[in-house]
Amino acid sequence: MIYLDYNASAPICQEAMDAVISALKNETGNADSRTHTFGMHAQQTVTKARENVAALFGVKPRQVIFTSGATESNNMVFHGIRNRAARLGRPHVVISSIEHKSVLETALHLRQEGYEVTVLDPGEDGRISFEQLKEAVRENTVLVSLMHVNNETGMIQPVEMVGQWLKDSNILFHVDATQSAGKLVPELQNLNYDLLSFSSHKLQGPQGIGGLIIKNHKDFLKEFEPLMYGGHQEQGLRPGTTPIALTAGLGAAAQRALLHWREDREKAKNLKQIVIEEIEKSGVNFKINGNQKFCVDTTLNISFKGVSSEALMIMLKNECAISNGSACTSNDYALSYVLQAMNLPEEQVEEAVRISWGPDTDAEELRKSIIYMCEIVKQFC
Ligand code: PMP
Repeated sequence: MIYLDYNASAPICQEAMDAVISALKNETGNADSRTHTFGMHAQQTVTKARENVAALFGVKPRQVIFTSGATESNNMVFHGIRNRAARLGRPHVVISSIEHKSVLETALHLRQEGYEVTVLDPGEDGRISFEQLKEAVRENTVLVSLMHVNNETGMIQPVEMVGQWLKDSNILFHVDATQSAGKLVPELQNLNYDLLSFSSHKLQGPQGIGGLIIKNHKDFLKEFEPLMYGGHQEQGLRPGTTPIALTAGLGAAAQRALLHWREDREKAKNLKQIVIEEIEKSGVNFKINGNQKFCVDTTLNISFKGVSSEALMIMLKNECAISNGSACTSNDYALSYVLQAMNLPEEQVEEAVRISWGPDTDAEELRKSIIYMCEIVKQFC
């Protein structure tokens, strides 16, 4: 059985595992207890993790707010802008129709409250057009939110151009970097944005933790409306006792990613070549979804002609773990809203599967599983 669903959740790396176990064993205190050394030691662990995360993104440690993951971070953004939108009299936000549900649903909730939400559709290539986005921005726009890499197709969105364009404007730019964090490292370090969401488990850290990076944080903090009230943790933006072991695990995963992203990327590129090579060699009829010129090396979204993704996944159940959409929607076998937004023919959407891999994927196992997958595909035709 080979795991090829890294975009849903990547297996935890050894470094993160060691850090989690060590913190579970050795950290007794609450990181906010200032009256004893247990608390102070726990705080040091959290500080080190925050420094490692900050280094990965090229930001200051104070700009990193730990959350339970990207879903929470995304929700925080759309909730957090309320005071600013009200003060400036700007109730308009721009998003795309291929965002993760935690952006889509949250933005649509704002619409029910009276906000104006412009939802941009991608082209057939799976990308949002920068020109179209520029046209959608208005005088009363308070926020533009665009994902860096789409979780289903792996398509890199034009966040660099948008960030450059919105730089020095007073429109906030939020990037959901859940699928690029720890992978497109220099791209993220050099990106202009105000807010950025990520999840630890997509960069080989533990599940249940992630973060929100708030860049222009002094101005913004004054009017950021938190989702929860309570203690002063995370500068009052995200109260609650810091989960030390999860935080330590995320910190270790971030440190690993910063050290190894070049070789991870090289390896991923070779793995993608193997996948495409074996599929081509097999002679099956297929279409790759999304323009590969703009695709990350860790994902392939592909439709096998005449083979429903649901049937294929059932046949492959005991051999390889793949998916036909984001894990958040794939349990009910709903058709991919991302591929539908790309306006692909319905059969092509029904036939689409997502294969995603990462630093631990073994090249020969991957090759064998793709050969096997193509054998199964041929049985359908
Ligand atoms: N955004 C994107 C692009 C994602 O891929 C995901 C996870 N599939 C999320 C947000 C939500 O992450 P989490 O479930 O860890 O909160």
